Amino acid sequence: MEKITSLAKRRGFVFQSSEIYGGQNGAWDYGPLGIELKNRIAAAWWKEMTQLHDDIVGLDAAILMHPRTWEASGHVENFTDPLVDCKKCKTRFRADQIPEENIAAKKCPECGGELTDTRKFNLMFKTHIGPAEDTASVIYLRPETAQGIYVNYKNIIQSNRMKIPFGIAQIGKAFRNEIVTKNFIFRTCEFEQMEMQYFVKGGTDEEWFNEWRRRRWAYYEKLGVKMDHLRWHQHGPGELAHYAKDAYDIEYLFPMGWRELEGVHNRTDYDLRRHTEYSGKDMQYIDQDNNSERYIPYIIETSAGLTRNVLMVLCDAYDEELVASEKKDGAEGSADDWRTVLRFHPSLAPVTVAVLPLMKKDGLAELAQDIRRELKEDFATDYDQAGAIGRRYRRQDEAGTPFCVTVDYQSKEDGTVTLRFRDSMEQIRVPKAELAARLRQEIKTYKRIK
Ligand code: ATP
Repeated sequence: MEKITSLAKRRGFVFQSSEIYGGQNGAWDYGPLGIELKNRIAAAWWKEMTQLHDDIVGLDAAILMHPRTWEASGHVENFTDPLVDCKKCKTRFRADQIPEENIAAKKCPECGGELTDTRKFNLMFKTHIGPAEDTASVIYLRPETAQGIYVNYKNIIQSNRMKIPFGIAQIGKAFRNEIVTKNFIFRTCEFEQMEMQYFVKGGTDEEWFNEWRRRRWAYYEKLGVKMDHLRWHQHGPGELAHYAKDAYDIEYLFPMGWRELEGVHNRTDYDLRRHTEYSGKDMQYIDQDNNSERYIPYIIETSAGLTRNVLMVLCDAYDEELVASEKKDGAEGSADDWRTVLRFHPSLAPVTVAVLPLMKKDGLAELAQDIRRELKEDFATDYDQAGAIGRRYRRQDEAGTPFCVTVDYQSKEDGTVTLRFRDSMEQIRVPKAELAARLRQEIKTYKRIK
């Protein structure tokens, strides 16, 4: 993880928030490469959910919601973690994340000092809206995006003539006052979620639950994630959230071990029932195709962390390998060389293609700039003319750029360029007129080889 964290900083994927003031716990900033990666992961999910599913539509609800929302959802009462403090070293722990013996003996796992009693700690960030800081002005930063979908479900049925079963997808920020934030961007106080809520008739919920488990697994497979680094974990009775009938996590093998990446939950009709109760509005669905039958739908939720997916993609892509030092056109270099490479799927890579003139002089830089200008409309491009070509390839490998185009003297004569592949380091010559089509084809048929 240290290697990934330092690469992320060095190459501008992720920076510590407010670093010049010593950093802000639980918050991170996404740099030029990081925001591109995050946007592409979000776009892949959004395409999967909305474009590829005729029965799912999108939404972008506000972060600030009426405070009654969180009473109805059960978060005010139940969204708590068990907290203990060490009286001696002052370290704070989640009681469910340290060995039970320590809790029983009230002994700090770090320093052996005495632990406080376990108390419940609500994870919602509370603030005030308006000038008066009284109880009437309390407002929460949303701890999940889901509730914004539930309170809009009737609006969406009416405006978009949706029929059950159907889904609503949303990507957005969520906030949790996490007791322990560690492991880089894995668990943070400010993060982003990609959630899809699928509304079904009670009785069909288990079938849909299994179907969504299947679809979410297939999605990661399509994204090219190492499938032996993914597994299912079913929530036991003690783990189930207050709203859930059944829940499975997709776990990823992060450097610190197996951890949750995404949850698939059967939330039953709990949320819409509670909103009916607290808002006084009728949240029943009226089935026009079945004698206006009325019922409160069940909800199958797929809830993935976007920022946690960024970490997963970085970990999954990270590789170091010993290679022969590279020259152009495959000429073997002398000494062996370690390279760090991020093997991103080309559709997720922050830069798709880098254009590199072999030399700055003799018109090669101008020709390379022309080629970049042409590619730019369709691809995320970079341009680099500084330093030896082998070193420039390494820089692109570290950024996860799947393709490099090198412009040399032959390019001036016959209009061909070198196309260099990140994973295999193979180099081929391609007429520059065919470059865009070739890249499109390579992206479409990409298969990870290592
Ligand atoms: P945990 O028990 O680990 O605190 P959770 O089970 O409460 O997490 P969910 O409420 O199911 O998590 O959240 C859905 C998804 O949102 C998670 O799978 C994860 O990807 C993401 N997520 C939740 N909390 C955080 C966080 N603090 N930082 C980053 N991502 C988060």
